[in-house]
Amino acid sequence: MIIFQNEHTTVFQSALYQTVSVFIETDQAVFLTDPAWLPAEVEEIRKFVHERRKGRALYIIFTHSDFDHIIGYKAFEDAIIIASQEFADRPDKEAPLKQIQEFDTKNYITRNYEITYPEVDIMIHKDSQSLDIGEASLTFYKAPGHTRDGLFTIVEPYGIFIAGDYLSDAEFPFVESDYEEYIKTMMKAKTLLEENEISLLVPGHGTPETLKQKMLNRVRDSHEYLLALKSGGPDVEELSKTYKFFDGLRGIHEHNLKMAK
Ligand SMILES: [Zn+2]
Repeated sequence: MIIFQNEHTTVFQSALYQTVSVFIETDQAVFLTDPAWLPAEVEEIRKFVHERRKGRALYIIFTHSDFDHIIGYKAFEDAIIIASQEFADRPDKEAPLKQIQEFDTKNYITRNYEITYPEVDIMIHKDSQSLDIGEASLTFYKAPGHTRDGLFTIVEPYGIFIAGDYLSDAEFPFVESDYEEYIKTMMKAKTLLEENEISLLVPGHGTPETLKQKMLNRVRDSHEYLLALKSGGPDVEELSKTYKFFDGLRGIHEHNLKMAK
């Protein structure tokens, strides 16, 4: 379902985990992130992209390789794939594919496209690597901590910050890969928000944000949560107020406490 739209941008949100896919239209190309996740939702995005692209090249940016983010890959046959080097080099590529198969089997889901691991055409090796296509200029930054292969993308001149699984209003940080890296990534996000004219922050789950101060508040909330993990743990009652799905995420919170040690 479409939850946000302006001249260049359309944001889709899945009914599952409020997973977000963003579509950006520019003069010479169109860009899409993490198309997800139920068959009818992927089909809605596919149709939308098909109608809008009018012969322009389609680039798909994968923010990281968690299974919910790569699940729609093969529904877009001729897309040019952008992801981090760590995404392309992931040693256990079968793991997310197995999770997709398990999810689909458990829920009696069939798809009209294949499930495979994305083949990366444009690999991001380092911070500030950029890609200019027509009027659009994309700049990429490594964003490890949630996973090893996370990627931030800033799309100019529209001021869009694509955050992947960071800076969500729906969930607190999930420290799947590395606690210290996660903190550094939050400091990087803060600098990027301060140094760029960002008018739209798009997280991987939850809702987009257009107000700069509220974007910075999301960084602050994540940072405070992470610091609290080290010093006895955040106040659980406060957390349930900030993140309305906290009760369903207690297991991940427990895991985070271990990761911070
Ligand atoms: Zn995710």
